[in-house]
Amino acid sequence: MIISKRSHQLCERDDVISPLSAPLLLLQRVYYLSLEFYMGRTLQNTMVNLGLESACDEAIYQVVSVRFPIGLGFACFLDSMASLGLAAYGYGIRYEFGIFNQKVVNGWQVEEADDWLRYGNPWEKARPEYMRPVHFYGRVQHTAEGVKWVDTQVVLALPYDTPVPGYRNNIVNTMRLWSAKAPCDFNLKDFNVGGYIQAVLDRNLAENISRVLYPNDNFFEGKELRLKQEYFVVAATLQDIIRRFKASKFGSTEFVRIDLSTLPDKVAIQLNDTHPALAIPELMRILVDVEKLSWEKAWDIVIRTCAYTNHTVLPEALERWPVDLFQNLLPRHLEIIYEINRRHMERITQLYPGDVDRMRRMSLIEEGDVKKINMAHLCIVGSHAVNGVARIHSDIIKSTVFKDFYEMDPHKFQNKTNGITPRRWLVMCNPGLADVIAERIGEDYIRDLDQLKKLLDFVDDEALIRDVAKVKQENKLKFAAHLEEHYKVKINSDSMFDIHVKRIHEYKRQLLNCLHIITLYNRTTHPSVLCFQAAPGYHTAKMIIKLITSIGDVVNNDPVVGDRLKVIFLENYRVTLAEKVIPAADLSEQISTAGTEASGTGNMKFMLNGALTIGTMDGANVEMAEEAGEENLFIFGMRVDDVEALDKKGYDAVSYYNRIPELKQAVDQISAGFFSPDHPGLFKDLVNMLMHHDRFKVFADYEDYIQCQDKVSALYKDTKAWTKKVIHNIAGCGKFSSDRTISQYAREIWGMEPNLEKIAAPDDPR
Ligand SMILES: *Cc1c(COP(=O)(O)O)cnc(C)c1O
Repeated sequence: MIISKRSHQLCERDDVISPLSAPLLLLQRVYYLSLEFYMGRTLQNTMVNLGLESACDEAIYQVVSVRFPIGLGFACFLDSMASLGLAAYGYGIRYEFGIFNQKVVNGWQVEEADDWLRYGNPWEKARPEYMRPVHFYGRVQHTAEGVKWVDTQVVLALPYDTPVPGYRNNIVNTMRLWSAKAPCDFNLKDFNVGGYIQAVLDRNLAENISRVLYPNDNFFEGKELRLKQEYFVVAATLQDIIRRFKASKFGSTEFVRIDLSTLPDKVAIQLNDTHPALAIPELMRILVDVEKLSWEKAWDIVIRTCAYTNHTVLPEALERWPVDLFQNLLPRHLEIIYEINRRHMERITQLYPGDVDRMRRMSLIEEGDVKKINMAHLCIVGSHAVNGVARIHSDIIKSTVFKDFYEMDPHKFQNKTNGITPRRWLVMCNPGLADVIAERIGEDYIRDLDQLKKLLDFVDDEALIRDVAKVKQENKLKFAAHLEEHYKVKINSDSMFDIHVKRIHEYKRQLLNCLHIITLYNRTTHPSVLCFQAAPGYHTAKMIIKLITSIGDVVNNDPVVGDRLKVIFLENYRVTLAEKVIPAADLSEQISTAGTEASGTGNMKFMLNGALTIGTMDGANVEMAEEAGEENLFIFGMRVDDVEALDKKGYDAVSYYNRIPELKQAVDQISAGFFSPDHPGLFKDLVNMLMHHDRFKVFADYEDYIQCQDKVSALYKDTKAWTKKVIHNIAGCGKFSSDRTISQYAREIWGMEPNLEKIAAPDDPR
């Protein structure tokens, strides 16, 4: 195992602090809280970061390679935080079942449970000594000594630690995931003979909290079990944070009542989306009810400690929990949220006297048939920093969903454009390209991705152009072999690999790509195109998958088309598959409706791996075009302003359908059952949606998309010109390292200084 001399916390030395370990007193820590979960295999990443990869025997690799179902952004950020030498902890839930495995049967998606722990997980270590109780239900007593939350049900939170090594810097951080355990006396208080068996069986109820990840992507589903999960991770983590703070400050967690007013100087809590929003009322509860601080003092500490990252503006994704659920499950937190809101409303009244509508818009409590708590509003009010994840997205939240909050507290709003770790998304997944780059500019770009700019000196270098094209060809051959093995489809590896892999969502507009494929199919000359797509969750998504596979069945079996056009639906898209397909991509599809994709990270992975982007001016695409030069991407379609203007005017899909013959033909084929001869009406609902209530305006961008794709095909014929653009793109990737993202979080939100230096262990000759 990787035990480092410079380990910040692998052994939790700070829990038994000695007077000699004074430097730890100064240590500032950041806590990254997340409920969202995907991480690839851990071992290879560990080997790369420790510089041991070539020494690792393939046999060992096979045995201990375990796929973690942990959050993707989470995984990149953990790698960067350790690589930048920050004392950072990732906290989440150790779900027994991660995101489901997707099977495609007769073109339809079928879900299977992801039993990732079945054969054990050698990378984690249970830490029963840090087990914590988490309370639910019960009632609130207001007594002379203060507020008490009593008659609660207790579930234990058992932590499992996984080491997170930095990139060749002798630092190892910790990811701590909580698992739910029923207490020994769970439901046993008043058992009789029959009751004992039932009580033991009922332990499952408590332990269900960490059973399974809710797979919803960008969709809020107000289930009580999900709310329990959210409180569970928050309550366990905050106890850990405060225990560690007290231990490192005073060497005691027990007998001293410790002043927590310096907490914000030592601790930063980053809320990844609103899912861990309960950290705000929970920290208030601890400070006021347990530590007996005044409300004002506690609130000041909470705001200076917490920061919130917004990930979406889609209204259906925003968390709004019914007050009734809270009343029952977390009665004290509901009281605290009401008090936060009362003071918040008071402040609005002072700043905007008489503006009742503004108060209604900004309230944490939404009135209506069902009273609801707006968790994003809670996060904004309870944090000192609120950030979006790409410049355009951060601007949009200031001018739309959070406009009122921006007007009141402009200083809180920031941008932190997302990034990806170049260790996993270049060195690990595309060693051929990493080597070609290193031969020209050295290896230092791996920890300082801005150095990729140096490649601009070589854009006209025939040898580099040849090497980059050659690596791409090798990756394509390898992936074609994978496809032949798994899908029994023979691919011509000279054809352009046009790749659209990301979770299926209407706003990502996989349907626009479908229309392009049909258009190509209908034209007499077929450019060679491949298209792949990926994972889902809801009814329309399942229909889209069925449509893609149906188009594939027709196109792939048409002898006239031959191998010039193939359509493959990639099953069970996940990090391990992304690592295979992205290095083999020529063209990256990033075609969301402008204003809907917060950032995207797939777009950055493709760019770094030498694919050209066809995309809209959305999310991080905007900054990618800025960094690589807009002429080196294929940008098309409506800008955010155009979308707004079209909304004002009223989007009329039918008018595009009537005006554009190729669009009409494609749509008619879908609705007439050309791709579903056994079931002609199968896609009626999809077509009806596109024609009459398409929130994402697929037809409005069709014409420009097709024209842009024509330009792509033309350029692809000129390998040299194409590859030059590829080099411009790779050279422009520096900004999209998660090291840059995390450095900005550190300096601008957490008040910490990142450090890119290698730190040699005392006995390390390196
Ligand atoms: C990068 C990645 C994503 C995110 O892709 P987007 O194109 O940004 O939506 C989703 N799933 C997996 C497995 C990924 O690797």
